Amino acid sequence: MNDQEKTREQLVQTLAQSRRQTEELKTSKAELERTKEALRGEINSLKIALESAEAGTWSVDVLEGARTWNDHCPQLFGLPRGTFRESYQDWLDRVHPDDRGRVQREYTQSLEELTDYQTEYRVIWPDGSVHAIASKSKVFTDQQGRAVRMTGVCWDITERKRTEEAIRESEDKFHRLFENAPLGYQSLDENGNFVELNDTWCKLLGYTKEEVLGRNFSEFIHPDFREHFKENFPKFKSMGYILGVEFEMIKKDGSEIIVAFDGKIGRHEDGSFKQTHCILSDISERKRAEEAILASEQKYRALFEGSADATLIIDDNKFVDCNDAVVQMLRYRNRADLLRTHPSELSPPMQPDGRSSYEKADEMMAIAYERGSHRFEWDHKRADSEVFPVEVLLTAIPVGEKKILHVVWRDITKRKRIEREREDLIAKLESQNAELERFTYTVSHDLKSPLITTKGYIDILREDLAQGSQEQVEDDLSRISAAADKMDILLRDLLELSRIGRSVNPPEDVPLAELVNDALERVGGQVDDKGVQVDISPNLPTIFGDRLRLLEVLQNLIDNAVKYMGDQPRPRIEIGSRRDGGDIVCYVRDNGIGIEPRYHDKIFGLFDQLDQNVEGSGIGLALVRRIIEVHGGRIWIESEGPGQGTTFCFTIPPKSESQ
Ligand code: ADP
Repeated sequence: MNDQEKTREQLVQTLAQSRRQTEELKTSKAELERTKEALRGEINSLKIALESAEAGTWSVDVLEGARTWNDHCPQLFGLPRGTFRESYQDWLDRVHPDDRGRVQREYTQSLEELTDYQTEYRVIWPDGSVHAIASKSKVFTDQQGRAVRMTGVCWDITERKRTEEAIRESEDKFHRLFENAPLGYQSLDENGNFVELNDTWCKLLGYTKEEVLGRNFSEFIHPDFREHFKENFPKFKSMGYILGVEFEMIKKDGSEIIVAFDGKIGRHEDGSFKQTHCILSDISERKRAEEAILASEQKYRALFEGSADATLIIDDNKFVDCNDAVVQMLRYRNRADLLRTHPSELSPPMQPDGRSSYEKADEMMAIAYERGSHRFEWDHKRADSEVFPVEVLLTAIPVGEKKILHVVWRDITKRKRIEREREDLIAKLESQNAELERFTYTVSHDLKSPLITTKGYIDILREDLAQGSQEQVEDDLSRISAAADKMDILLRDLLELSRIGRSVNPPEDVPLAELVNDALERVGGQVDDKGVQVDISPNLPTIFGDRLRLLEVLQNLIDNAVKYMGDQPRPRIEIGSRRDGGDIVCYVRDNGIGIEPRYHDKIFGLFDQLDQNVEGSGIGLALVRRIIEVHGGRIWIESEGPGQGTTFCFTIPPKSESQ
């Protein structure tokens, strides 16, 4: 190939190359256009993104110090849109003084080290409010590697900061609560080693967390409980919870406390065991108090059970407890039967003071509740219905909000009987005293009268003797003699009366019919003289007492019946008996002069005579009454009045009572 051809060939190749290059240029230009277009698109998207995120963008020409901002930036500083044309220093002035130094350092450092940086700082708005801003920036360099531009994005994080602050505060609060909760907290892993615990736990046992975490729970409990823990920990894990489990734990100082545990287990998402969560409370004090209560309860129960007094507890008007003395007193089969009984069933319907048991019980309890305690007497009814008196002491004991009643019953049957006997005795003594007074007065008065008569006739006798009148002397002497006789009768009867109380004859069964016959024999003369008809009832009872004294009674009554017959043309005496309730009433009835009702009592008095002219001492009926009373009986008169006849009735109690 010649030079021309070579040159042409070179030209062709050069042309081809330039064509290729032209083609390549065309292609790269198109690519550049496409890239530009894509970049524009991305910038638009970025703008939209920044717009919608309300983010500000800024750029600093490092060499010139000029800053450019997008429209949002001023808003982040509390300024109107588009008004922000400030210098670096103006911007810095708006940063919160506490953050200013740090932000300045970060900025300078980033420029020096050519590193991107991200920061957060607070700004103060013109209205004084504080807002938080986050900023992210990038440093651009020239070909020599010097920083020429810094561009960044900033956005408002005030809300986020507030939320974070609130979360932090609530976490803090929770943490404080958790650590200082009134109850201890502990968490164990599957081997029973501590993984978590709170300050309360540490205070309770006297350890620091560091001394406990990682160690096994069994190291902190009393050796006696270690086996129990080993056995039961797997059960807890499988069951999932525990309630009120008690352990004796050893504190760091070696002292012991009793702790109650409640807990459950925490699981992984797949359901497998993760750790335990337990709360624990120191129940040592409670346990000690419980033990003290138990001891005092045992003491009280021993006193309650051992008391000889019937003791019981009433709550809300129901028996809740009683001792054996109550069961025995009320003759119940056992305590359960008694406690099932309502209090109202243990009393007769009425109390001795005539009030209903129901009302009185209510009133007595109200007084006890008000005053704290109340003592009173009460009639009770045993299981076999026997009624007996008790003295009740009610004591109201406060139990929580309400009050229960502690009740003591004391059987006072014996005391009541003695009281009754004493009262009877006093009444008897009083009446005997009165009778004695009457007696003394009457005796002195009645004995005086024959003495006065005697003295009077002695004087007359003296005169008559002086006058020598024999006839008068005889008369005087016979009057003196009559007065002496009268005195003799009086003294004899008095002696008789005084003997009655000291009756010495032993009591015996005495058929009344026999007594009547004996008495009639003694007074027979008078009966016959006056032609009195005597009717004796058949089937007269047998009475029990002093035969001779009872004979005196009948003799006296028959004697009087005859004596006070008056001018009855058909004198008649009837002797018989009748039943009156539980008593046998014996009677001597006549159809004589009768006695006015107002004298029915009086004539039993000593020396009381309704007609002084009738022969007699007035002691007979006093004697009769005394004999009857000594036998434990009563005597009274039934008479319609003068001319209506008189009936003397008397009772003599049967054998057992009079003995
Ligand atoms: P006296 O010795 O007077 O009989 P009593 O004590 O026996 O004394 O009787 C007291 C009084 O009671 C008598 O004086 C009499 O007035 C009255 N009296 C007693 N019995 C009867 C009777 N059966 N009928 C009427 N009056 C009687």
